[in-house]
Amino acid sequence: MTKQHDRQTTRNLRRAWIISIGTELALGQSVDTNAAWLARQLADLGIRGERHLTVADDLPAIRDVLRQAADECDLIIVTGGLGPTADDLTRQALAEAAGVELETDAASMEQIRAFFENRRLQFSEQNKVQALIPKTGGAIENTSGTAPGIFIALNGTPCYALPGVPFEMKKMFTRDVLPNLQAAAERVMRMRRLNCFGVGESDIGAKLRDLMEPGRNPGVGTTAERGVIGVRINATAATAKAADALLDETETTVCSRLGKIVFGRETDTLASVVGEQLTARGETLSTAESCTGGLIAKMLTDTPGSSAYFVGGAVTYANELKQQLLDVSAETLARFGAVSESVAYAMAEGARERFGTTYAIAVTGIAGPEGGTTDKPVGLVFLGLATPTGTTVREIRFGSNAPREVIRARAAHTALNLLRLELVE
Ligand code: ATP
Ligand code: MG
Repeated sequence: MTKQHDRQTTRNLRRAWIISIGTELALGQSVDTNAAWLARQLADLGIRGERHLTVADDLPAIRDVLRQAADECDLIIVTGGLGPTADDLTRQALAEAAGVELETDAASMEQIRAFFENRRLQFSEQNKVQALIPKTGGAIENTSGTAPGIFIALNGTPCYALPGVPFEMKKMFTRDVLPNLQAAAERVMRMRRLNCFGVGESDIGAKLRDLMEPGRNPGVGTTAERGVIGVRINATAATAKAADALLDETETTVCSRLGKIVFGRETDTLASVVGEQLTARGETLSTAESCTGGLIAKMLTDTPGSSAYFVGGAVTYANELKQQLLDVSAETLARFGAVSESVAYAMAEGARERFGTTYAIAVTGIAGPEGGTTDKPVGLVFLGLATPTGTTVREIRFGSNAPREVIRARAAHTALNLLRLELVE
């Protein structure tokens, strides 16, 4: 570590750019996991990952991005392109962006030689390249590979270049970069996620509009996946405690506006929340699935310990099995068809009776892409819920253009949500 490194990182660090180098990343042949990991680490320090950039192994392109970053952010973290091959161009790009020459770092050269000797590997001329460091920069020792990292100030902005290999990168960041950033960071960012189900993302957006305005602290944003809407809250403050207090306050506001559609936090799923409710009440559940093919059972059993409340279920695609396993009558099937309110009703009651559970969920529908009619289009799903006080059926139309897997996942989520609402009411 150079002296310069210590001095440079004492400035205010608010906005970071994370730059991932590699043609394989830019072409989508491998996925950039480094940037996401680094951004989370920085967030814990209250440093906002403002941009993630991916640049191919192209010297002028890397150099130009570095120059732009140096002008526009407070901290630059680069990963990849530090290896010994001709397409590893990060050190050269750093030197060009800083307007200085590369020179051999004696300590790094020793470490690289020792690395090869210890492993009885042939040391080639090519490997000497890795000991080259821009004149105004410093080497960061690599304790798990050969390429040292580099620290350099670019136009006064601290820049760390780390290896591309994820475990080498993480180790170097944690050992040599994090302590410096911790010393410099003045603020802490904390995040919380609330999970919602039952309305669209735009409805939630409308209810939380003022909270979602850019530049607010805490910041609020939404994401949607298979009907589950995540509301993310990020708060920045001088201490973790103060940031948590801000999170609590905003969470209370969000929950009071959204009400029962908020079902959990962080990694809670509809299935895990239903499981908690059933456990608390000492009650049990079974399933009867047609178009979801066991997906609800899968979701329920994703939660460890689900055997405490989930006894199992039947996947009944054919009418014969609906009759044999769930006592759906041949007459009901013939009269209303397998995808009907009556059959969903009979499936739920049959499962509850046969499997001896407090509740049963049933699903029958048309997941497509074929099999739809004008009367019964693709995306039409009937969800049955049998309870000790009666059985109800909900008809849902997910839209005939929705892909099969989306219809199935949304049907499964909606069914679990019906039970959740039954249990909270
Ligand atoms: P090396 O000395 O191993 O060549 P390097 O710093 O040159 O290290 P790269 O050659 O850019 O790193 O990448 C090495 C490997 O690390 C890649 O093949 C890829 O599998 C992985 N890798 C690189 N960048 C990333 C990234 N951003 N996210 C995930 N994996 C990455
Ligand atoms: Mg490489």
